[in-house]
Amino acid sequence: MPGATGLPDAAESEALATLHRVFGYEAFRGEQQAVIEHVVAGGDALVLMPTGGGKSLCYQIPALVRPGTGVVVSPLIALMQDQVDALRALGVRAGFMNSTQDFDERRMVEAEFLAGELDLLYLAPERLRLDATLDLLSRGKISVFAIDEAHCVSQWGHDFRPDYLALSLLGERWPDVPRIALTATATRATHEEITQRLGLPSARHFVASFDRPNIQYRIVPKADPKKQLLSFLREEHAGDAGIVYCLSRNSVERTAEFLTANGIEAVPYHAGLDAGTRAAHQSRFLREDGLVVVATIAFGMGIDKPDVRFVAHTDLPKSIEGYYQETGRAGRDGLPSTAWMAYGLNDVIQQRKLIQSGEGDEAFRRRATAHLDAMLALCETAQCRRGQLLAYFGQEPDPAGCGNCDTCLTPPETWDGTVAAQKILSTVVRLQRERGQKFGALQIVDILLGKRTAKVIQFDHDQLSVFGIGSDLGEGEWRGAVRQLLAQGLLAVEGDYGTLVLTETSGSVLRAEREVLLRKEPKKPSGSRSGGSSGSSGRGAGKARAVAAELSAELLPAFEALRAWRAEQAREQGVPAYVIFHDATLREIVTRWPASVRELGTVGGVGEKKLATYGEGVLAVLAALNESGAAAGASPEPARSAEADDWPEPADEPEPDDWI
Ligand code: ADP
Ligand code: ZN
Repeated sequence: MPGATGLPDAAESEALATLHRVFGYEAFRGEQQAVIEHVVAGGDALVLMPTGGGKSLCYQIPALVRPGTGVVVSPLIALMQDQVDALRALGVRAGFMNSTQDFDERRMVEAEFLAGELDLLYLAPERLRLDATLDLLSRGKISVFAIDEAHCVSQWGHDFRPDYLALSLLGERWPDVPRIALTATATRATHEEITQRLGLPSARHFVASFDRPNIQYRIVPKADPKKQLLSFLREEHAGDAGIVYCLSRNSVERTAEFLTANGIEAVPYHAGLDAGTRAAHQSRFLREDGLVVVATIAFGMGIDKPDVRFVAHTDLPKSIEGYYQETGRAGRDGLPSTAWMAYGLNDVIQQRKLIQSGEGDEAFRRRATAHLDAMLALCETAQCRRGQLLAYFGQEPDPAGCGNCDTCLTPPETWDGTVAAQKILSTVVRLQRERGQKFGALQIVDILLGKRTAKVIQFDHDQLSVFGIGSDLGEGEWRGAVRQLLAQGLLAVEGDYGTLVLTETSGSVLRAEREVLLRKEPKKPSGSRSGGSSGSSGRGAGKARAVAAELSAELLPAFEALRAWRAEQAREQGVPAYVIFHDATLREIVTRWPASVRELGTVGGVGEKKLATYGEGVLAVLAALNESGAAAGASPEPARSAEADDWPEPADEPEPDDWI
């Protein structure tokens, strides 16, 4: 349909032909086409797309279509080799220059660039700003500058890289070369900062939908996070690759050990490990099937492994931006994936404490508090989680809900918690007014429940008039109520011991001028999919792997056979398996069972080069399966009920931890 897309005919056909021929994809996604058209025509662009949205094609195709080399600035030198390998597997002439290379290797890339033999050249920002590099670039022909992870220029973000500030010189030095800046960080403030600091005043802004419909968002009350995590992994993601985020190095180490001890292969990743160990663990994650990385936020940026099936948080992230970026690393291939988080009272207390006792001025604290409040609102909402996330990024959610988050699948009940809130607040007031004391949440809950613990007796708290007035609710419900009051700003945390104090708005609750609506705590803290409680009919129930979830049982052995073939290819070539083919491609192959090389070429993700390299190999695997009749002999795993496992008892005390 020439011209229908708004592209000039020639450019349209060239961009689209490149998409088909090189990448083997049928059609552009969302904003890709508009971005590519604009950049191919020589315009500057700022592209905001969620993680996994398809940013790479936005600069790779212009680099292939325009004459010269596309120069990609990326902060992640550890990943450049893999990125270049993946492009070379597609037949794209790609190279990189960074500090991991020796002199000769670098010389060779330089020569290729000068000879016009590179389609794409990846550089770290600290290398780009060197005079020697700038001189080199001046002597070759550049088609486009792509600035990846452009939010690294923002001083407010946790990914700030001072070297990014120097990138504004690109526009001054190469005014005729289009520049495209890309990021998954979406707030308007970051937007403006990028435009200004990179010197992109006339760049057109492309804002893609931030929805990632294949990711299921779930947030469960935290009881014993390691055990809950284990149940979640065993029931829904056995054998899958995924990332578990913890806030402290200590809990990263302990969680990785715990998973390994329980038969799930997991490796730690945090800033306290030496560079060699970190690189080795990252490399294993990219290369092996089904490895779990337990990490602090130091892990993950720029990792484009497409088949990460879950991202789990065992601690509350500090902001929605961070949470969305981290969870976005799941399911880049578009297949069903899960973003799972366990969140509890102690998270709120710790995070509030951290902000108050941390470094930074008042403005910094206010910002951090606003970020945390938005995160808490997401955790405590009784509405669609996806809706809340999209609204946060300024986008219109579906008013009917998404149907693929825990609150949509199992709408939480709410209850009038006004009296409960009054009881909690009065206890805080009594302690302070009558005794001049402040205590943490645990003591308040013990007093309400009328528990004569050692600490209650020591302080004579059984003599308070509020002692035992909360026996109508259980401990979990009280903890939940305290957590929600903290989230709603009706109660606050103070000092190093996390003592509870009133806020300006507490009075309105005590005076009964304000109603407090609370979410009901589930009877059992669920580590498993809330939507699966209806039995074994839920997606994924009865199947170990989410990837295979929508493949019929007869096709599973064929899928596994292709994966085994792929693993062998990957091992031989020393590249990650997804560089050969994505899971999504293997899935389409077994579903369509192509009979010829030509037919195989119409499968998504099978471009010209891959067809030439692997076409015969894939068909041979299929032929062998035909012969052995293996496809018919499938025996799916017995179905497991989502509720079958015994649930951990709630932990008595929140665990103190070393925070980083
Ligand atoms: P981002 O950099 O925005 O996180 P990527 O560029 O890594 O995302 O793309 C995410 C995934 O989507 C990749 O596996 C990529 O191959 C795939 N993809 C991107 N564009 C298309 C398309 N038009 N059709 C099919 N798959 C696509
Ligand atoms: Zn929803």
